[in-house]
Amino acid sequence: MDFKIYFLGTSSAVPTKERGLSCTAISYENMVAFFDCGEGSQRAINEAGLGFNRECVVFITHMHGDHVVGLLGLLQSMSMNRRERKLEIYGPKGIIDFVKLNREILGFGLTYEVHVGEIRPGLVFRHPKFLVYAQRSEHTNDSFAYVFEEAEKPGKFSVKKALRLGVPEGPLWSKLQHGGKVISPTNGKTVRPEDVLGPSRKGKKIGISGDTRPSKTLLSFFKGADVLIFDSTYSDEHAQNALENKHSTSREAAKLAKKARVEKLILTHFSARYRSVSALVRQAREVFPNSIAAHDGMVYDVES
Ligand SMILES: [Zn+2]
Repeated sequence: MDFKIYFLGTSSAVPTKERGLSCTAISYENMVAFFDCGEGSQRAINEAGLGFNRECVVFITHMHGDHVVGLLGLLQSMSMNRRERKLEIYGPKGIIDFVKLNREILGFGLTYEVHVGEIRPGLVFRHPKFLVYAQRSEHTNDSFAYVFEEAEKPGKFSVKKALRLGVPEGPLWSKLQHGGKVISPTNGKTVRPEDVLGPSRKGKKIGISGDTRPSKTLLSFFKGADVLIFDSTYSDEHAQNALENKHSTSREAAKLAKKARVEKLILTHFSARYRSVSALVRQAREVFPNSIAAHDGMVYDVES
């Protein structure tokens, strides 16, 4: 199954030769959810093979240029590729005006419909296969973190039980697997999905912090996540900058990951001052060993 995280821009504030501005994508089967869209994101999206005509939705964490300016280029690239599907964009207060006024100023017509929505904490997007929640983060302006949560999956199908209840292999199995009840062709009795399916399985949870200080609110929001992608702008040496600019050090990200009992921590949004982020990874691993650093073009397979 296709369930992957694409790291398309992993630098903070200033792009470097190796790292572009904030953009992360989660692909789930044929759908893509983008989180932030820094300048130049459309190039990284294209290079990752994510395409401009897919069913997708964009979530913005906060209205800072390095997280949102790329949206304009993305909208235009989609139009140049003759997109027809509607595009939904969600973000904090200001996102509606940002898209509307820029479209007016730049005078671009689009080949598709755009819906822009300003969000509040809670469930912000519902897809049959996944849900997206937002929660307030702690940055210098109105900012949000997100959780992408896969919908519960039906329990395991028991071949043994189905056969014992007189349901032969074929379309009736598929109907039961999809939650429908069937009549056994051998004994005429009704067989319900719960008769042949095990308990439903929890879906995977991915947290995306955006720019933030660690906080108690985020700690509970990200509890038990399978993957946590967290602001790691600074190393220990620049902990004061993290405080002042309302970002996190990699060690702070790791502390939160440990307390929230997440499975894996992926550090991102690195200050352009670090040519190598190995010190940041080392500092995070001292607290939470299952930490890695994101880099542009990295694809993380959630299913593996
Ligand atoms: Zn930023």
